[in-house]
Amino acid sequence: MTHSASSESTSICPVCGDHASWLIPFVDEKSGEAQKRSSGYRWCLCRQCGTAYPFPAPSLPELQAYWDRNRVEGDSAPVTEEVWQGRLQASRVWAQRTYDFVAPHVRSNTRRFLDVACGLGATVALFGEKGWEAEGIDADPNAREFHQRLGIRAIIGQIENVDTANRYDLVGIAHAIYFITDPRGFVCRVRDMLDEEGLFVVVLSDLLSTLCAGSPQYAHTWYPTADSLTYLLELEGFEVVASKTTHGSILVLARKLSVAGGPPQGHPLRVYLSFVSHGWRYRLFGQPTIWFGRRVKRLLGAGRQLLKGLR
Ligand SMILES: [Zn+2]
Repeated sequence: MTHSASSESTSICPVCGDHASWLIPFVDEKSGEAQKRSSGYRWCLCRQCGTAYPFPAPSLPELQAYWDRNRVEGDSAPVTEEVWQGRLQASRVWAQRTYDFVAPHVRSNTRRFLDVACGLGATVALFGEKGWEAEGIDADPNAREFHQRLGIRAIIGQIENVDTANRYDLVGIAHAIYFITDPRGFVCRVRDMLDEEGLFVVVLSDLLSTLCAGSPQYAHTWYPTADSLTYLLELEGFEVVASKTTHGSILVLARKLSVAGGPPQGHPLRVYLSFVSHGWRYRLFGQPTIWFGRRVKRLLGAGRQLLKGLR
């Protein structure tokens, strides 16, 4: 991957605008190995707010080319009925988790929900079943067929295409916020679309978990943690009302404030320590735990088979 020359010679945090940063490891596209520098490309962690971001930032055409190439290489097999049902079932599980997480905090009588990057549309469908006026938006034209099958209301396009007159009580984005090119602009846009005391739910993969091998990659436009996401939300006039980690993901629910609070408190050092310790935490504890879990599962399966044979 070649990187276009940036007009900026130094890195600037896309969230708080600060210049000071630490270098953090990322996955090199060619070798697949985690490293700190590659042909002028690097990942920075803001010392002010703890946001991780690449420098130079990939341009939209570069990202589009990346996605097109990966779609062609990785998605050559047609989606069979079995694959579709499997994906839908997995999406339903996350839709239900999101619903259960959000429901106790809903105050408004109207129920208007927009799911950004809605994928197959399972979350839109589930909220619709629960009486919400739900709709989705997704950039992938291939998703249209699945939306039609579920009978949900969804548009193909970017969030910028959503009619600015539309108002919502809840906006959600699941497992996609790290592909947004302007995180601050995006959160600001969500705030504009929400009614007073509207809710914004974000589901993130817990990429720095000890049980996960993930690191920032070329396709990521930034890399939030629960801490740095909270900073961004507070900066844009939200208050985080609930947060939890479950099944390898982090769920954060924020309420729109009528008056923006004071300047947020960042925890950059805590985020930095999570990044620099991640590799060895995974190798030392994560990998053995995963290995052990698989062995136990296999042994239990074999035991079950044996008991079946004896009956
Ligand atoms: Zn920052």
